[in-house]
Amino acid sequence: MYFRSFLRGVNRKQFSYSNKRTFFFNAASTQLVGSSTTPHIVPSLIPYMVALLLAATNNNENCDNMDHIVADPPLELYDTKSAGIAVRASRDIKRGELLISELPLLIWEEGMSPEQLRHWTDQLTPSARQTLFNLSKRSDKLAIEAEEKDNTDESARIRSANGFDLELPGIPLSFHGKLPPQPTRASFLFPNISRINHSCLPSCGHALDWTRLRMEIFAMRDIHKGEDISIEYLPQMITLSTEERKAKLQTTFGFSCACQLCSSDNETIEQSDRRRKQLKLSSRNLFGAGLNRQQMVGELERMRVILQEEGYKVLPEFEQENISKAYAVFTQMRSNFIKQDEE
Ligand SMILES: [Zn+2]
Repeated sequence: MYFRSFLRGVNRKQFSYSNKRTFFFNAASTQLVGSSTTPHIVPSLIPYMVALLLAATNNNENCDNMDHIVADPPLELYDTKSAGIAVRASRDIKRGELLISELPLLIWEEGMSPEQLRHWTDQLTPSARQTLFNLSKRSDKLAIEAEEKDNTDESARIRSANGFDLELPGIPLSFHGKLPPQPTRASFLFPNISRINHSCLPSCGHALDWTRLRMEIFAMRDIHKGEDISIEYLPQMITLSTEERKAKLQTTFGFSCACQLCSSDNETIEQSDRRRKQLKLSSRNLFGAGLNRQQMVGELERMRVILQEEGYKVLPEFEQENISKAYAVFTQMRSNFIKQDEE
């Protein structure tokens, strides 16, 4: 499982849709989109993607079962009336459940010009275009001005609202001879997953399984039937104050976060901001203060308690990647010890 878990944790959702959407949708689109679509990939990225999947087939452990394909996702789309279409649980969901594993509808490369992207979008199959144009679009001033300036079509605002900008893994294949430079980032848009709303206290985690090119959504806590499914759109939000998170989401996606946490009363927000500030201090302490082993464990445990108080269930990402990894190892070891004790 090493390859798989190694490749996880590089998700960077940089562009997503507003959770304040007020755009038209047609009633027929409340059904989840069928997952039989083949991804549309910009030509320049096709060699990379083929090589990536070939590399994955070397790793039999990941390819000999289909456990990670969800036949009947326990999700449904619904019209929130005030904020467009969102995704909710169609039954009770247990913590740890894989909710959906979805191939992208579109994959495009960083740095493509608006004209190139428009031209490429024009060439999609009619059904891919329909799925694309059924998704929400940004409606903030910045995005509308960019559309006018670039003389592009609505698809730009849809891509910007729904795409996941991800860091691409290096391909572990060995070649003799010269390889073209590998791309480092690409954007992925999903027919259903792109409709999941952002929350600063998300109920689900997401990770792209690079061996299958499928985005997976996992429940990080028990979720009741009818409850909203949410993920965190940007990394490193855990150490930001409410104001900072709101500002970041506003500039990146053009919406003002109105999640459960951001719309809480002042006291709750102040408490949350204090906790997140402490997490930032702790992570910096761990990184630079030359702590001994015992002090480090103490600091990690302090962080664990704060995260629990905050109600944050997703594995946190800190500014320093090493600290995120150390925290993941710490909590994993801690839960193993508890399991052993119980046995
Ligand atoms: Zn929020």
